[in-house]
Amino acid sequence: MQPSPPTHQPDERGLITECPQCGRANRLAYERLGQPARCHDCQTELSSPVAPFEVEDAAAFKALTTRSKLPVLVDFWAPWCGPCKMVAPELVKVAQAGAGQWTVAKVNTEDLPELGAQFGIRSIPTMVLFQDGREVARQSGAMPAAAIQQFITTAR
Ligand SMILES: [Zn+2]
Repeated sequence: MQPSPPTHQPDERGLITECPQCGRANRLAYERLGQPARCHDCQTELSSPVAPFEVEDAAAFKALTTRSKLPVLVDFWAPWCGPCKMVAPELVKVAQAGAGQWTVAKVNTEDLPELGAQFGIRSIPTMVLFQDGREVARQSGAMPAAAIQQFITTAR
């Protein structure tokens, strides 16, 4: 069995991730995403996000999308949405393929309706690509991983 990939939890300053060696929680600052990072305690190398992570509050969302050094693909989704479920495993592939080049974040529009309203999300899933603090592209509807990756690489 393969070990599960490290998880990353966004807060208002960066992504919290546990050191695979000593278990210490480290924060990868948004401004330094994509650059090599090491554990504060034991100097073990910490990985960039290799899986989609859920954004749980609006402040973390704002910090992530305005300060991230890497492009951020945001998937606006909801638990009741069938196509969103189809897209979820595709986003896992996209996040893995883009480790260190882009990050994939998810926003549950049931939990954070204010973000859906702020960005005028009318159908889900909708994917919005942020780079250098602004929206550069968006696309609604389910897509396979290859199409999502193409969407990211052609937009940035
Ligand atoms: Zn450590």
